[in-house]
Amino acid sequence: MPNYQPPSAMVYPRFEGIRTFMRLPHVTDLTGVDFAIVGVPFDTGGTYRVGARFGPSGIRQESMLLRPYNPFLAINIFEHCSGVDYGDLPVTPGYLPESHAQITEASREVLKSQATPIFLGGDHSVSLPLLRAVAEKHGPVALVHFDSHSDLWASYFGGKDTHGTPFRRAVEEGLIDPGRSIQIGLRGSLYDAEDYGISEALGFEMISGPELHEIGMKKAIQRIQARVKGLAYLSFDIDFVDPTFAPGTGTPEVGGFNSAECQTLLRGLVGIEFVAYDLVEVMPPYDPAGTTSLLAANLVYEMISLEALKRKTNPKQ
Ligand code: MN
Ligand code: MN
Repeated sequence: MPNYQPPSAMVYPRFEGIRTFMRLPHVTDLTGVDFAIVGVPFDTGGTYRVGARFGPSGIRQESMLLRPYNPFLAINIFEHCSGVDYGDLPVTPGYLPESHAQITEASREVLKSQATPIFLGGDHSVSLPLLRAVAEKHGPVALVHFDSHSDLWASYFGGKDTHGTPFRRAVEEGLIDPGRSIQIGLRGSLYDAEDYGISEALGFEMISGPELHEIGMKKAIQRIQARVKGLAYLSFDIDFVDPTFAPGTGTPEVGGFNSAECQTLLRGLVGIEFVAYDLVEVMPPYDPAGTTSLLAANLVYEMISLEALKRKTNPKQ
């Protein structure tokens, strides 16, 4: 069984070859694979700007410089992990229910393996069909959700499925357990004073953007670690980040967090039993210097580092 890893940049220049995440081999047989990068290039759930369909390719493009050793977590990822780029799931642009069904079906295939999937959106609506497949395998999971929005709206334009509603549906369908879930970074203008209370009213713990600035990353990590029990799903909306660092996104909100703070937060999640991850809402058409995609690639790198640490602690039999 091959141990899939990126080719050495000392032998094979990093700008050569066909673009995959971190220059990993493009492999669809997940036998023996520990983590798989999976694109979900769908953006028909967007309510304002669109263009997240180009997210997976933008993130792959900016991932070329990533190196295998993560000094902050002191781990050489591929000593403990075989990792691949699985490619993209099939979608039908313009057709949301049909695409969501395709995403659930195709991610179900990925989840039949032992590989932990890391999904690259796409708009945030894709988390719902992904969670349907995840909950089918694992039962209701805890949600760790970084976002400037709660994405718990009941509906938009009379429709039940947009990038502002996935977690409301996930709660209704019993895919996530709000009682051991947490939303972090919520901020920005709202429609109504009551909107701010939706998260807690539905049973989530919530650390708003202003509160996170006040308590700092260390304290927030303690609260996440104390809250999240059992199998978990990490969903990272790039608009959690301040638009200075991540301008290429669908619904940017000022007053956010910088790239170093995002890295600190993700590095603090060691020990949580994530069964899948997503990183969504990256929009290369609004990202002229590739800044947003570069940050997204580096945050995915922290996710695969968490997977490597998990396997270092519990090696394969
Ligand atoms: Mn979102
Ligand atoms: Mn958002």
